[in-house]
Amino acid sequence: MRDIYFDHAATTPLCEEAFNKMKPYFTQIFGNANSQHAFGREAVKAVDESRDAIAKIINCKPNELYFTSGGTESDNWAFRGAAHALAEKGKHLIISPIEHAAMLSTAKALEKEGFTVDFMKVDGEGFVDLEHLKSIIREDTTFIGCMLANNEVGTIEPIKEIAEIAHAHGAVCFTDAVQAAGVLKIDVKDLGVDMMSMSSHKIYGPKGVGALYIRNGLLIDSIITGGHQERMKRGGTTNVAGVVGFAEAFRLADRDREKNFEYVSSLRDRFIDRVLAEVPFVKLNGPRKENRLPANADFSFRFIEGESILFSLDLAGIAVSSGSACSSGSLEPSHVLLALGLPEGLAHGSIRFSFGKHNTQEEVDYAVEVLKQAVTRLREMSPLFKAEGEIKNV
Ligand code: PLP
Repeated sequence: MRDIYFDHAATTPLCEEAFNKMKPYFTQIFGNANSQHAFGREAVKAVDESRDAIAKIINCKPNELYFTSGGTESDNWAFRGAAHALAEKGKHLIISPIEHAAMLSTAKALEKEGFTVDFMKVDGEGFVDLEHLKSIIREDTTFIGCMLANNEVGTIEPIKEIAEIAHAHGAVCFTDAVQAAGVLKIDVKDLGVDMMSMSSHKIYGPKGVGALYIRNGLLIDSIITGGHQERMKRGGTTNVAGVVGFAEAFRLADRDREKNFEYVSSLRDRFIDRVLAEVPFVKLNGPRKENRLPANADFSFRFIEGESILFSLDLAGIAVSSGSACSSGSLEPSHVLLALGLPEGLAHGSIRFSFGKHNTQEEVDYAVEVLKQAVTRLREMSPLFKAEGEIKNV
């Protein structure tokens, strides 16, 4: 029994450096960053320095960066806040069909309020169809949102082009960079987006903290009203230790970005190559290597359920994620895979492996062996597999 963690797209372990930086802010420098005494000044200094550090990495001004409780809040704020603020101009919103639940649920809520949400098409690898996007923009479109990189299949989207299209039609452009920030080089000004979400726990920082970049000059409504925090845009006592840990994790991720990218991609490529060569009836979801997140390998295995593979791997000490939402109580297959055109059966048989900087090649090789055995055993028990008899590889 081993303990192998291949679920870095879900979350990452907090790195030692960030943890050590955070510690004094729990017990010694515990002041409220809004207090006017010395304790508060010390806390706000740490928050300001953290904001400066992250702003520098993504090339924005510190006053364009707002700390939040994470990616979900940032997504909600950008989408709902912009839709509401721009409602007089129009009530038509466009997002991709492969967005995170934070966006999709907000879309549903906005529809109930009277907004119309349309979805840009994606191709079989998950890339947005820019021509289709152009064809669905209307005069009353105010918001176009698309993630920078997909959390299930790892596709890196052409956000710069999407932003250009949005601006040519007078809409604002938002990107969810929760999976991309700290992994890819991001310059928000070059990207041209008006808003961008980030989250700390995907990059070896603490959970429960993130940020939203909002371009200066763009006014969006607040969704969390309260005190004067975050320049009166987002109420709530600042999570000082979290913000400090986030900034330190981001600094390290940026410093080691190229090295980590190369190393993690090499693990992913070895895994993908071996699985495709050694496991029959398997499909790699998302792009092969180009424009794919370095950590991500998502496969569909014919004739078996993703959950069955997940539990078999879990028993062998390997942590992965299933593509479907079964674990969250729904039996629906992954909306991402369905949007890519996978038939339901294949979408049900999906597993996401997401590698990290602490993983080793030995772990990858061990996982391939365990996976091969698990898939063979599950197929032997699968009536679908037996019924198909002589079939061709997908
Ligand atoms: N957006 C994407 C693309 C994600 O992958 C996630 C988390 O899995 C989120 C948003 C939500 O981020 P958080 O966990 O910080 O709320």
